Amino acid sequence: MNKNILFLSPNAKLTLEKRYLKRNVLGKIIESPEDMFRRVAKNIASVDLIYNKKADIVSMEEEFYHLMTSLQFLPNSPALMNAGRHLQQLLACFVLPVEDSIEGIFDTVKQAALIHKSGGGTGFSFSRIRPKNDIVSASCGMASGPVSFMKVFNEATEAINQGGFRRGANMAALNVNHPDIFDFIHAKNTEGVLTNFNISVGITNAFMEAVENDAPFPLINPRTKLVVKTIRAKVLFQEIVQSAWKNGEPGVLFIDAINAANPTPLLGSIEGTNPCGEQPLLPYEACVLGSVNVSQMTTYKNDHYEMNWHTLEKTIHLAVHFLDNVIDATKHPLPQIEVLTKGNRKIGLGIMGFADLLIKLNIPYNSEEAMRFTDKLLRFFSGKANEASERLASERGMFPNYEKSIYARQNGPKYRNATRTTIAPTGTISIIANCSSGIEPLFAIAYTRNVLVEGGLPEIHPFFENVAKKRGLYTDKLLAEVKREGSIQNIAYIPDDIKRIFTTARDISPEYHVKIQSICQKYIDNAVSKTINFPKESTAEDVEKVFLLAYRSGCKGITIYRDKSRMSQALSFECAC
Ligand code: UDP
Repeated sequence: MNKNILFLSPNAKLTLEKRYLKRNVLGKIIESPEDMFRRVAKNIASVDLIYNKKADIVSMEEEFYHLMTSLQFLPNSPALMNAGRHLQQLLACFVLPVEDSIEGIFDTVKQAALIHKSGGGTGFSFSRIRPKNDIVSASCGMASGPVSFMKVFNEATEAINQGGFRRGANMAALNVNHPDIFDFIHAKNTEGVLTNFNISVGITNAFMEAVENDAPFPLINPRTKLVVKTIRAKVLFQEIVQSAWKNGEPGVLFIDAINAANPTPLLGSIEGTNPCGEQPLLPYEACVLGSVNVSQMTTYKNDHYEMNWHTLEKTIHLAVHFLDNVIDATKHPLPQIEVLTKGNRKIGLGIMGFADLLIKLNIPYNSEEAMRFTDKLLRFFSGKANEASERLASERGMFPNYEKSIYARQNGPKYRNATRTTIAPTGTISIIANCSSGIEPLFAIAYTRNVLVEGGLPEIHPFFENVAKKRGLYTDKLLAEVKREGSIQNIAYIPDDIKRIFTTARDISPEYHVKIQSICQKYIDNAVSKTINFPKESTAEDVEKVFLLAYRSGCKGITIYRDKSRMSQALSFECAC
C-alpha cells in the first residue's frame, strides 16, 4: 500500500469541506484534503530551520505528512485550519485574566474575541470580580457581579461565531468561596442561557474537608478580602451536585490538585482551564493539543490484534516534535500570550481511538482488564512523551522558564516543554480520523452524526458491522434496532461475547467512567477530558458519590451528564464545532 494515500470516511470529508479546506473569495473550496495536510506539514516542518540551518525540511515535511494522512496523529483543529495561511493561529487553548474593573473586563472581552475569531477557545476565572451589590466607588452604585459579566462575554462570543472558523467556546471558573457562588451554580439551569460557556466551580481541599466534616465555610469578598457570610460547606456542595444532576452543570475543578501539578508555580498559580477543562493554564498562557489515534497502533497477527508498542513510540516522538514546532510556527494573538507560551512551551499530546483500541484488543471498557491495560498504555505513553521532550531539549534547549520550574532541581528531568501530555475531547479531529473520541467509550453503536451543522451521514460502528456480518447477525432489522437504541445491550439475540465488547457510554457505570479517568490522570501532566455518564433515573446521591470518588482518586475535575437531563441533548460532544 502506498504510504501516502489518504483514506477519509464520508463524514471526515464533509467535516473538512465545511470549515477546514481553503476557499477563495467567492467561497469556493480551492484545496483538497491532501493539499490541506501538505500545507500543514510544510508549514510545521519549516520550523526546523530555526534550530538547524541545515535541517532536512523536505524529509521532515514528508514524515509529518505521512503522520497525518495515515490518521495516526492529528493536531488540534486550529492547526489544520490555519497553518500556512494568513491567520497562522494554531493553538486551541487559552486562559485570560479577568480583572475587577470595567476597563479590565472589556479588555478581556476584546482579547477573547480575537482568539475566537482564529479558532481558539478561552477560559477565565471570574473570581476577582467583586460580588453583586458590592460598592462601585466611581458611581456610588452597586456592582452587578460575575454572572452578569459572563453574559457580556457570552453575547460577544455569539456575535463572533457568525464569522469565525468555528464556534467560540468559553470556560468560566468561580472559586467556591466567592459570595456569588450560588448564582453561579444556577447560572445555566435555564436552557438556552450562556450557551457559549461551560461553567466550573473551583473547589479547594479546604472546602472538601469542610464538606467531609460538615463544617462551616466562609464566603469572602475578593475586593475587601473580608468574610461576608459563613455557610455550611455541605449545603453548598449539595447545591453543586443537585444542579449538575439537574442538567450537567456546573462541572468542578479540583483547583488544589491542579496547582499541585503546576510546573511553574513561581510564575503564578493556575485559576482556570480551557473550555473543555483538559488544559489548566496560567493567565495569558496558551497551549497546542494533538492526539495519537491509538486504534491504529496495532498489528494483526494470528487472527487477532496486538498492540504495536514500537509504532506507538515512533509516533509519539514525531508528534512531540510536531507540537513543539507548532509553538514557533504560530502567530500568537497577543504579545503577552506569546511571551508566556514561548517561555513555557507547554504542549498537550493525548490519545484518541481508545475505545476502538479496546474493541480491537477484545477488552471490555468496563472491566478490570481495561483498567490494567489503561495503566500500562498511559504509563508507556507519558514515559515516551517525556523522553521525546528530553531529546528535543538536548537539541534545542530546555523551555526558557526552566529555571523557574519544578524540574530545576538536582537530577531533575531536562524538558523542552513544561507539560507534555493532555487528553483532549478530540470532538472534530476524531471525526476526521474516523475513530472514537479521546478516551470516551463509544457514544452509540449506530447513529447519525450532525457534522458541524445538520446533514451528517448515518454511521454504524465498522467493527460491529464486521462482527455482525461474520456471525450472520447483520440485517436491516438489526441496523434499525441499533440505530433506535444506540446500544445493543437489550437486543436479545446478540450473543453475550459481542455485548461485552460493544458497550456504549450509557452502558458503563459512572464508577467505571471515573476509574478510567483517574488512571489516565495519574500519568497525564495536564488534565483529562471526560464526561461521566449517568442513567436518567440516577439520583443526586449517586452524583455526589461520584464527585467524591473523583476527588479522592486524584482527578483534576469532573463533568457529568445524566441521560436526557437537557432538552437539546448533544448527539456527540459538548463542544459542537
Ligand atoms: N475548542 C473550541 N471550540 C470548539 C471546540 C473546541 O474553542 O468548538 C477548543 C477548546 O479549547 C477545547 C479544545 O479546542 O477544549 C479541544 O477540543 P477538541 O479536542 O474537541 O478539538 P478538535 O481539535 O478535535 O477540533
